[in-house]
Parts: sequence; C-alpha cells; structure tokens
Amino acid sequence: MHEMSLAEGVLQLIEDAARKDGFTKVITVWLEIGQLSGVEPEAMEFCFDAVTRDSVAQGARLEIIALPGTGWCMACGKTVPMAEVFGECPHCGGYQMQVTGGTEMRLKELEVS
Ligand SMILES: [Zn+2]
Repeated sequence: MHEMSLAEGVLQLIEDAARKDGFTKVITVWLEIGQLSGVEPEAMEFCFDAVTRDSVAQGARLEIIALPGTGWCMACGKTVPMAEVFGECPHCGGYQMQVTGGTEMRLKELEVS
C-alpha cells in the first residue's frame, strides 16, 4: 500500500511547518488528491490516522479534495477531462491520450492551534 509512505510524507510536511510556525496541534488537514494519482482516499485516511498517532497531527481531521484528471488527445488536439489514466478521448474515441493534470497529491492547507 503506497498510501502509507505518502501519508508519512504528508506528516513530514506538517512537522516541518509546525517547527517553522511554532504550532503544537493540528485541527484539520486539507489534502488535494488528483483522480489520476492512483491514491485511494479511503486508504489515505486510514494511513493518515496510523502515521499521525503520537504526532503533532494526532486526531486531526483529514479533508480530501478530489482534483479532476485532464488529458490531451494527440489525435484531435483537445484537452479533455479524464477519469482514468488509460481512458479514451470523449471527442474522437482515440486512445492516444497524454495525461496533463490530476496526477498530483498536495497538502493544501492546515488549520492549527
Ligand atoms: Zn480526441
């Protein structure tokens, strides 16, 4: 489950921010997850709970914001929404798609006290 190492990466970012900004408790964490990133939101929630135990983010609420995937069709030259990495173009039905967005995962915001 690669969500575990991703969750550890998120915790790392939170702990860096805690050191820099001097907060001691995290209330809410907003995490953007692209639809084409391969990250399962449910697995992410589970792993986040596990890795934040005994950390500054213990008990924090995880809010996941799903970012839509986008791709560029080589056949018709259009940028289209994509629900899966190997999807087809909704305009021409082609499979020559280049993913252009929605593959990232990003820590968007922290609510701290
Ligand atoms: Zn197309």
